[in-house]
Amino acid sequence: MNLFELAPEYIRAIQPYQPGKPISELVRDLGLDKNEVIKLASNENPLGTSPLAREAMIQALSESARYPDGSGFELKVALSDRLGVSAEQIVLGNGSNDVLELASRIFLRPGTSAIYSQYAFAIYPLLVQAAGARGITVPARNYGHDLEAMLDAITPETRIIFIANPNNPTGTLCDARDLLRFIERVSPDVLVILDQAYDEYLPEANKTNSVAWLKNFQNLVITHTFSKAYGLASVRVGFALAHADIANLMNRIRQPFNVNSIGLAAAQAALDDVEFVKLSYMTNRTGMQRMIAGLDRLGVGFIPSFGNFVSIQIDGHQADTLKIYKSLLQQGVIVRPLGNYGMPNHLRVTIGIEEENKRFLYALEQALKESD
Ligand SMILES: *Cc1c(COP(=O)(O)O)cnc(C)c1O
Repeated sequence: MNLFELAPEYIRAIQPYQPGKPISELVRDLGLDKNEVIKLASNENPLGTSPLAREAMIQALSESARYPDGSGFELKVALSDRLGVSAEQIVLGNGSNDVLELASRIFLRPGTSAIYSQYAFAIYPLLVQAAGARGITVPARNYGHDLEAMLDAITPETRIIFIANPNNPTGTLCDARDLLRFIERVSPDVLVILDQAYDEYLPEANKTNSVAWLKNFQNLVITHTFSKAYGLASVRVGFALAHADIANLMNRIRQPFNVNSIGLAAAQAALDDVEFVKLSYMTNRTGMQRMIAGLDRLGVGFIPSFGNFVSIQIDGHQADTLKIYKSLLQQGVIVRPLGNYGMPNHLRVTIGIEEENKRFLYALEQALKESD
């Protein structure tokens, strides 16, 4: 008996998640100088880490021999004060991927299904498949979520609907009123997961006050991350907000120490670093304007984005897009090809600091000339 064959077919069929190329890998592959390489491939914060979080992490190192507070008490109190939810409604995770997985593991199994949009965040199909459930992909509308079609796609077996708002990698945003009308019409026995990883990058006028909806919808789960605007991608902290009963289920199956002490300390301090988040927002706004102006100048199409990234469209075939991608790598610029998202003619570029955006635009111009 082959042990490998005893693993469920749906596990063996999983295609692992493809992360952005690490700087160290490009340095190894092409022999480039590490300081010459810029990474605009994983939507990380180009300003680095919140200084308050960095200080808190250094302090927390001295307690490294101790297990962390498995309840995350202090961080939950801080989040509870900030967001106006009770601590029982919060689930902390090793990044928001962790809390997305907790919800999936509770509600999905063979015989159930989950719904997500075409071009939505690649983690959703992965989680659904890992649980042995059926993934239902709803065709996108102008690269964004078609909420009406997603409602129509619900079957009696459906347990979860995933919505990323803004969505990665398209940067599209659902209107808050449309979202509310959508949730109102979803049956209460289907969980709606609203992934707001890029919420901090939205102008006030575009924000969705989804926390207020938690009172009326016991089937709503909202997820947030410290990986993006707070600059803590490597430390792995995210959280979910939900009805206390759902949060309770999620807390039962998580690892007892799923968020480490350094992460807990960093997240709590980062939450207080309002200045840093504001600066991250402003840097992204300015950078996005420059980026778009630069793309227009080069005649390169793109999907208008509400995130800290923009997906550009390369004319021609997939091979042309990969040629541009490789040329950018040769020039020390890492972006993200989107072939595995079913967008073979797009490259996703994270908005960097001014220097990085300029370098990307220059490198793109060279790459386009080469491929002429
Ligand atoms: C980056 C991102 C996240 C964050 O994942 P973490 O596990 O918190 O680092 C979540 N959702 C989307 C759509 C993202 O793009």
